[in-house]
Amino acid sequence: MIRSIFSKILLSHIGIILISTITLTLFMSYLVRSNAIDTKRQDLLFKGQAVIALLTPNILAGNVPSNESLARISELAGGRIWLINENGTVLAGQPPYNWARRFEEDRQEYADLFSNSPHSWIRPSYRRDPSIVVTFAIPEAPTPIVVFLDAPIVGVNKTVASLERTLLYSLLASLFTAIIAGFLIARSLTKPIANISQAAKDFANGNYDSRTTATANNEIGGLGRTFNTMADSLAEIEQNRRNFLANVSHELKTPVTSIQALSETILDGLAPKPEQQQRYIATILQESQRLGRLISDLLDLSQLEADELSIVCEKINLQTWLSTESDKLEALLTPKQIALQKNIPEQLPHVWGDPDRLGQVLTNLMTNAIRYSPEQSIITIRLLSTKHHVTISISDQGPGISPDDLPYIWDRFYRGDKSRARTYGGTGLGLAITKKLVQAMQGDIRVDSQVGKGSTFTFTLPIAK
Ligand code: ADP
Repeated sequence: MIRSIFSKILLSHIGIILISTITLTLFMSYLVRSNAIDTKRQDLLFKGQAVIALLTPNILAGNVPSNESLARISELAGGRIWLINENGTVLAGQPPYNWARRFEEDRQEYADLFSNSPHSWIRPSYRRDPSIVVTFAIPEAPTPIVVFLDAPIVGVNKTVASLERTLLYSLLASLFTAIIAGFLIARSLTKPIANISQAAKDFANGNYDSRTTATANNEIGGLGRTFNTMADSLAEIEQNRRNFLANVSHELKTPVTSIQALSETILDGLAPKPEQQQRYIATILQESQRLGRLISDLLDLSQLEADELSIVCEKINLQTWLSTESDKLEALLTPKQIALQKNIPEQLPHVWGDPDRLGQVLTNLMTNAIRYSPEQSIITIRLLSTKHHVTISISDQGPGISPDDLPYIWDRFYRGDKSRARTYGGTGLGLAITKKLVQAMQGDIRVDSQVGKGSTFTFTLPIAK
């Protein structure tokens, strides 16, 4: 491919130079030739008039000029002169042997010579320069006579030949330049392409650091820059995939290991006391629940990321919907004796969303709020309608989120305070799922948090039309 582009550029350069030089040569030879012929024709027509002026008085007197006088005039005119009558008989002078060949097929042309106007044509010659022939009729003569003046167009062939030689040299010089320039241009085009191609091959072979250096400010450089941008995002995706796999394995392994260890302890009779066994079994149950949560979160997340989670939107009356969710929320709040304050305006437009998924969002945010809130604190749910949305916010009086953690809390498996989050039993997937669910319902979610004061998670839902 590269070789083919290379050779195409090179050949097209050579082709252009060849074609233009040959065209120029032909055009210049034609110009030189026709210019020389025209000049000679004008010259002969002018001299011919003088010859006629010299000969006419004698001819009118019925005398045919002698060959000697014609030879002298010929010398002055710079060409042969001969006279013919209507029968084609040469009356005086020495014409070239083939002078009459031109009229053998076209007698009319011969007859036309005896009209008043002068005639002219070119008599080609294979070895020497071509001649130009001009004829003048002397109609007042006792019998019509035509005077021929035939002069070689001296040097035309020589001029054309030297011109062609010069052009041939320039053709060779430009061919040489074309090859060098073509080679350099072709290489400057194909080298960056080869560089991009090599970078792409290396990338495909698993070297995710591979980038092209062909990023000049032109079209190919643009391609190179696009490749690098693509490689950056693919490398990031790959890194995320690896991190995700490592996180998943780690998250799965921890509860499985403790389930295994506790069951073995019981089976091996190392925890003989019933209360001890009870504690171990409770932990086993807790860890299995954690595993179950993790697996269902993973399933949700993978479906959300593949756009496969079914979201069935409908009109929702948030007041009614919230009262149906109350029991579930109560059950979550009770263990830590947290009070729930609801701040809901009387009039609220219906929103457009999936009630089940909305329940999942609310549960995730409430679970977090409760998880990170101190006992007997207050959690507030506020609803507010704007022009196009209804805003739902959940505020807690928990420890807040440090500004360093804030940008990452939506990432999969991100945990703010690692040790604390783990003891709280979170999977680190809750907010990643919540954000995707809100977005899938055409909403948006954000967080405002102050360390030591609490956090407010706010999401929007579109108003139903
Ligand atoms: P987790 O299962 O660890 O709670 P999430 O994705 O739900 O995972 O949350 C990610 C991180 O965001 C948490 O580990 C925690 O650090 C922080 N976070 C979430 N909600 C709150 C909150 N209400 N108060 C304080 N920190 C929070």
